[in-house]
Amino acid sequence: MISKKAAAIAPSATLVVDSKAKEFTRAGFKVINFSVGQPDFDTPSHICQVAKKAIDAGFTKYTPSGGIPELKQAIADRFRKDDGLIYRPNQIIVSVGGKQALFNLIFGLIDPGDEVILPTPAWVSYAEQISICGGKPVLVPGRKDYKISADQLQRAITVRTKLLILNSPSNPTGAVYSAKELNQIARVIVRKKIWVLSDEVYGKIVYGNQKHTSIASLGKEIYERTFVVNAVSKTYAMTGWRIGWAAGDAKVIAACDALQSQTTSNACSIAQKAALAALTGPQDFVRQMTSSFARRRKQLVEGLKKIRGLKVDLPQGAFYVWVDIRPIEADSGRFCTRLIEKKKVAAVPGSAFFAEGYIRLSFAVSPADIKEGIDRISAFITEEYGRNKP
Ligand code: PLP
Repeated sequence: MISKKAAAIAPSATLVVDSKAKEFTRAGFKVINFSVGQPDFDTPSHICQVAKKAIDAGFTKYTPSGGIPELKQAIADRFRKDDGLIYRPNQIIVSVGGKQALFNLIFGLIDPGDEVILPTPAWVSYAEQISICGGKPVLVPGRKDYKISADQLQRAITVRTKLLILNSPSNPTGAVYSAKELNQIARVIVRKKIWVLSDEVYGKIVYGNQKHTSIASLGKEIYERTFVVNAVSKTYAMTGWRIGWAAGDAKVIAACDALQSQTTSNACSIAQKAALAALTGPQDFVRQMTSSFARRRKQLVEGLKKIRGLKVDLPQGAFYVWVDIRPIEADSGRFCTRLIEKKKVAAVPGSAFFAEGYIRLSFAVSPADIKEGIDRISAFITEEYGRNKP
């Protein structure tokens, strides 16, 4: 009954772990959920107020399918202010979260048989979206720092290569590409005449002296070959509002708009008004949230470092710690299943990100839960792996 196309789609692995965590919570257990992919902050109240006003004012009808003009303008203004990037409104489309913006672009760019280079570890949805569109994900494992070099990119390119997907800061590793690294990668993209999709949804969440650079900002030629995706989801703690966007070549954006107009139509009208308030209003929330994440990042990494058998580095951006469990366990799925079942601690197996022998822990959870979670993981490892002391 189910089509071959639909049957081939794997459900998102992060959502699978999350639903297991919820199941145990419903059953009355205190679960420490390190699997969440969203800030644990409430959406700032000035944003919620604008949404309430939009409802009361009857802003509840269809909007243009690609987004309201004032939101596109606000997105263009942020690109100019934050990244020095100039986009006209017809180069921007507003979608249902970053996820739909990514899917639209992959659909708009990829023909059956086209190859898409995906540096790994990589976020779960890219490869599925590429496959749904008939493309072939070409996995290129990152170096020790989880990033790929320009040389690696060059070697992975074939006559069928159409696109590179870059995600900096990265989910799951928190790796951030420097402007210098991006420059070298950009040169290969331009020379080889491929395209790049730059997923920058964690761009505002970077730590220490890290600076987020958009590859599109590194010159006219790479600008013309880049599609940038972003969203209000992570930056403003607005994951449920479902507003994201893509920017790039006007013809491809128009194709995305055509697809969107025949599938979902516009993103929620009220959420668009809320996103407008987020982008044009005060930005101190983003700084406060990031400093709170910075403290929890330190707490989680320091706690994990004390546990024998785990190897971990400080992530430079996003809100995930990428933990090497290979000294004690090769099968990350087995590790995570036993961890949730025995200690009610949810973590995402690295296999979901094409990197076996690792797990991803989110530190978008309270400091009390981080402490409790570290204790439980430590006890779990002693009980499960005590025999083969690392
Ligand atoms: N890109 C990355 C790397 C993500 O981690 C996520 C969400 O987890 C998204 C895109 C999708 O974001 P949104 O919730 O706006 O669809």
